[in-house]
Amino acid sequence: MVIFEIIGTVLVADFLSGVFHWLEDAYGRENWPITGRLITKPNILHHRDARFFTRHGWWQSSWLLLCLGLVVLAGAWACGMLTWQVSLVVILGINANQVHKWAHRMPSENGPFISLLQRAHLVQTPRHHARHHTDPKDSHYCVLTNLLNPILDGIRLWEGLERVIRALFGVSRRIDTSVSISRQGSENKPPPEWKSRISDQSAGDRFRRDQFG
Ligand SMILES: [Zn+2]
Ligand SMILES: [Zn+2]
Repeated sequence: MVIFEIIGTVLVADFLSGVFHWLEDAYGRENWPITGRLITKPNILHHRDARFFTRHGWWQSSWLLLCLGLVVLAGAWACGMLTWQVSLVVILGINANQVHKWAHRMPSENGPFISLLQRAHLVQTPRHHARHHTDPKDSHYCVLTNLLNPILDGIRLWEGLERVIRALFGVSRRIDTSVSISRQGSENKPPPEWKSRISDQSAGDRFRRDQFG
């Protein structure tokens, strides 16, 4: 029974990772205050240069999710709903971007333990996540396991939600300029001007580190 509860809890966390990822990919603008800098720009950068964030440590990838997770834990505690299931969802959610990052790293970068977790399909495999990065980049949003994406994409959940949002609020999905031909017909748009600045800056940092330790 407990095993089923654990699996169910993992799937809830996986589903939430998909919801957040879909929201990031589909909505929000890079020039919005706070979310533009913290969420949309890194998201656009990730679709342009998928390996960029693999050089980030746990803190850099997870601090925002950690803040969000602590707020959820505090809220659950205040409402008397702080169960182990809620705690497990939050712990997995905080580490969602880390698991996502493992899917972009080489086995040599991940080390034997994480590689084993991936081979055993206990976390999402690189091959599975690669399908999210295949144009038009509008499927496989969940990043924790391989289990939910085939179901959610099969019932066209995200497409349906986008249609509902468009009908209710008149808001359409953001055009993903990294997609050669999207549903909205964007074609090979150049990357945003800030992208090369970030990439150059990090290349400079790397060069300095390599040269001067
Ligand atoms: Zn994405
Ligand atoms: Zn990715």
